[in-house]
Amino acid sequence: MKEKTEIQSLKEKLFYTAPNAYRVCDEDEVTTCNDFCIGYTEFLNECRTEREAVSYVKEIALNEGYLPFDKNGVYKAGDKIYYDVKGKAIILCTIGRENIESGAKILAAHIDSPRLDLKPNPLYEDSEIAFFKTHYYGGIKKYQWTAIPLALHGVILKRDGEKIEVKIGDDDNDPRFVVTDLLPHLDRSDKKISEAVKGENLNVLVGSMPFGKDEESETVKLNILNILFEKYGITEKDFISAELELVPAFKAGDVGFDRSLIGSYGHDDRVCAYPEIMAALAVKNPLHTTISVLTDKEEIGSEGNTGLRSEYLKQFIGDLARLEGLKARDVLRNSECLSADVNAAFDPTYPSVHDKLNAAYLNKGIVVTKYTGSYGKSSTNDANAEFMWTVRNIFDTNNVVWQTGELGKVDEGGGGTVAKYIADLGVDVVDVGVPVLSMHSPFEVVAKMDVYMAYKGFKAFLLS
Ligand code: MN
Ligand code: MN
Repeated sequence: MKEKTEIQSLKEKLFYTAPNAYRVCDEDEVTTCNDFCIGYTEFLNECRTEREAVSYVKEIALNEGYLPFDKNGVYKAGDKIYYDVKGKAIILCTIGRENIESGAKILAAHIDSPRLDLKPNPLYEDSEIAFFKTHYYGGIKKYQWTAIPLALHGVILKRDGEKIEVKIGDDDNDPRFVVTDLLPHLDRSDKKISEAVKGENLNVLVGSMPFGKDEESETVKLNILNILFEKYGITEKDFISAELELVPAFKAGDVGFDRSLIGSYGHDDRVCAYPEIMAALAVKNPLHTTISVLTDKEEIGSEGNTGLRSEYLKQFIGDLARLEGLKARDVLRNSECLSADVNAAFDPTYPSVHDKLNAAYLNKGIVVTKYTGSYGKSSTNDANAEFMWTVRNIFDTNNVVWQTGELGKVDEGGGGTVAKYIADLGVDVVDVGVPVLSMHSPFEVVAKMDVYMAYKGFKAFLLS
């Protein structure tokens, strides 16, 4: 090899550039990464909604010997418990060897994703075609949700209280649903993207066949209701006590000739949730109590009693603390958290929205995002230098490939995560997650190496 010049050596010593994970990992590690991502892809196809993610996590937790949390229970180091928050959020916890007053290691990812929710009274017929009215959930570019196959997932509570689980559109034999869009020939006005498709026009096509031969009104709607009655025993009023979500019906899978990427609906934030779950399962007898939160409602501002603006995490920690004769605050002030959420990956097709020096890149590992927010760091946690050092040190000593990132240029826009709500509890917290291309679209893209580095980083953090 050619000897380095003085300038090259000095640059190597003084400059910082995050490396590409493929350049620093050996073949074994790339194989481990690819195997890990097979599990992740299965998880994506199994869990399309927050409820499905909770069921999935609960099932593997039970298989791994986790027990439901008992607020009057007696726990010793190494005990594993889970806390189910109304079937829409869940906490996995392993009791540490140290007293809980030394603080907990908290991971927090979210398992809700942008989608189209049915309105409480969704079904109507117009021009002998039946549709569902929807209200979109989370930040979407509405035009991306038209003319793609959709699946219907969720629950319906019937008059008698029986709960029915709905999952239609994922199997090859299932029917699918779609939001129609105008043909280009009749859509030539120069509309802004935000006005191209109106929220109230996100109507989902659900049928077109009349019931019987009579020239009665609304027989297409009647036929749909009759099919639903025969299949589920539900009537129109039962939609009011339901949560039905339309999600993209295409499956997760590899992207690219080299298969280095995964395309799927809902990477945000299942791409952090899955590594978080796997890290929680891998950590057997930690020094500090580990708490892995999988929360709901992040995409609509974390409000509601299954979101992290509610007290459920604080109450859980308070209950754990009480078993040791302590208060929640005794634990929280010494606790540390990685808010496990995605950041935007630099997209070379749209470079103008990013500050290239501070953008996150595919394959450069997990992104540590010191602050999010917008317009002068408004509405964000801004991690302190000391905690940034702690995280940097954990990742570097455990060979985790990582990078820093900022969500777009200053004043270009912005966003938020659960970090600030966890910071409100007095916990040291920073955002750490996977870079995503086409975020919030029906088919987001991530790099496999970054998914694997999330797992490696989260595990190292729980063990710190
Ligand atoms: Mn997110
Ligand atoms: Mn999001």
